[in-house]
Amino acid sequence: MAWADEESTKPHIVVLPSPGMGHIIPLFQLAKRLVTHHRFRVSFLVVTTADPIPAAQTNLLRYTAVPSDLHVIDLPPVYVSDLLADVPPGLTPLCVMVEHSLRLNLRPVLLELSTRPTAIVIDLFCTQAFDICGELSIPVYSFFTASTVLMAFSLYLPTLDRETEGEFVDLPEPVQVPGCRPIRTEDLLDQVRIRKSDEYKWYFLHVSRLPKAAGIFTNTWKDFDPVPFLALKENPFFLNIPTPPVHPIGPLVKEEEPITESDKEILTWLDKQKPDSVLFVALGSGGTLSSKQLTELAFGLEHSQRHFILVGRTPNDASAMGAFYSAGGNEDDPKTYLPEGFVKRTEGVGLVVNSWAPQVAILSHASTGGFLSHCGWNSTLESMVHGVPMITWPLYAEQRMNATHLAEEVGVAMKTVVEPWNEVVGREEIERVVRMVMEGEEGKVIRKRAKELRDSARIALESGGSSGDSLARVVKAWKLEHDTK
Ligand code: UDP
Repeated sequence: MAWADEESTKPHIVVLPSPGMGHIIPLFQLAKRLVTHHRFRVSFLVVTTADPIPAAQTNLLRYTAVPSDLHVIDLPPVYVSDLLADVPPGLTPLCVMVEHSLRLNLRPVLLELSTRPTAIVIDLFCTQAFDICGELSIPVYSFFTASTVLMAFSLYLPTLDRETEGEFVDLPEPVQVPGCRPIRTEDLLDQVRIRKSDEYKWYFLHVSRLPKAAGIFTNTWKDFDPVPFLALKENPFFLNIPTPPVHPIGPLVKEEEPITESDKEILTWLDKQKPDSVLFVALGSGGTLSSKQLTELAFGLEHSQRHFILVGRTPNDASAMGAFYSAGGNEDDPKTYLPEGFVKRTEGVGLVVNSWAPQVAILSHASTGGFLSHCGWNSTLESMVHGVPMITWPLYAEQRMNATHLAEEVGVAMKTVVEPWNEVVGREEIERVVRMVMEGEEGKVIRKRAKELRDSARIALESGGSSGDSLARVVKAWKLEHDTK
């Protein structure tokens, strides 16, 4: 047993994300904040396999400035590729990697740390930590990297599962999570569409362990979506099930990112454009389009005659998340998969960036005036933090829920008439919605709303703001716990 010599006076927190940039980025941001704003020491554990580490992950964790009290520790690699040979991209591979890694590594790695952790903060899909850390008497907090509505839905899922026959997507009415807005069945996340699937089993397993958490952090702020917070706090359903305390501490989004020489060229190009004139088109860390859809998107952008930056990826006709486990890897030359002559014809008007762009640097640039996004939660928050209105292009996971929320409730985004996850969106429709957001009256309305939310997000994070205070309360409890040990 380690931890004998408690030489450090600083409390020590362990942070454990699941694989995938959408999980690593927000938990890394929390880790940095705990070190820089609250003077903790943080060990950031990273699940690895025998496969190469995605380039985007290496760039973030190894090549950005990291405070000295933040230690990135790779867990020993696990060998799961044989098990995953025929498994399509999705939640299952992620959960298999995590299951093997944590069962083998978590306990010994925790025991090897030089001081006892005061607490561990885990991603939703790392719930093996509850048992392992329970044996070591380390309190476990969960960090929910998606929306609070999805979190409320997830706490409700065991009840819904018990009370429903057949598939949720076949229900005649929208799903009514107590105290929350109804969720259209077509917006339900992929993982709960087929209850016999492995995706469902994994999702169900992890969310049914959520009540074991000492607290749940959500990456949002109260004013962005007050309804589910109220439900979690006051609705009799949530009061009658074991609902852990919920702490909204966001929006925690990437602040610095590695800027390469080619990234600098993008930013220099943006410097020459007019304010709010450029549409940024990016589909998360791993989103991919079919060949047909990519062609339509390219023509739609070209015909709109608006300025754009397009993150290009080799099309994938089999999966909408074809690049998820190789984020930021080298792709084919965009000229080989974009319509012939597209790059040349749009020269000066548009930029095609291969596979990965410095998203936050682009969204925070004054020339960026719109974001065509897959509506992953981090991309959504980054757009809000920088006051950029969106065009919704949901592809997988819970992105349809986010898109509906942003367009129909928050009023900060436009949907395409045809839903991209359902069928191919034609070039005319893309041209229409791009023009509408970038120069139409509707665009002005959602841009104004986006700028209001930017201000509200900033205030929430400040000391005295709702999220700043929410994290400070937990930090205070952790410090007290550390001091009394
Ligand atoms: N991202 C980026 N450059 C890209 C694509 C994505 O920096 O070209 C980052 C983006 O800023 C965000 C994350 O990758 O922080 C994607 O997370 P999100 O939750 O939006 O989607 P996911 O990839 O998990 O589906």
